[in-house]
Amino acid sequence: MISRRDAALRLDIPIEMAVRHGLPTRLSDSEFAELEQNPPAWLLQSRANRSAKARPVWVTLTCDICGFTDSARPKKWWPEFTYLSCDNHDIWDLPEPGEGLHREEFDDIGGRFIGVVDS
Ligand SMILES: [Zn+2]
Repeated sequence: MISRRDAALRLDIPIEMAVRHGLPTRLSDSEFAELEQNPPAWLLQSRANRSAKARPVWVTLTCDICGFTDSARPKKWWPEFTYLSCDNHDIWDLPEPGEGLHREEFDDIGGRFIGVVDS
């Protein structure tokens, strides 16, 4: 069985789209295989609408302190992060910003990360 969230991740579609088109909260492996092998019209349409340059639907966030990873929907306002850290670490466990660089922190990245930008 896989969860609807995992199915959306693997199909590279937003969860809302999976919900809207009636994907159950859990799918069996064969249901998922069927979806991939015989994609319904809405899934084909969604794939056709995505250009190669489009923002990815999902990104993998990795903590630079402990290596924890999670998938998240990227937000338009996210800058290019120098570092990411889980929100329960001491931010000073990250390397110091380079000479003359100014450090900015962004809370609530993907739910449980803090983004750091040195510029
Ligand atoms: Zn961490």
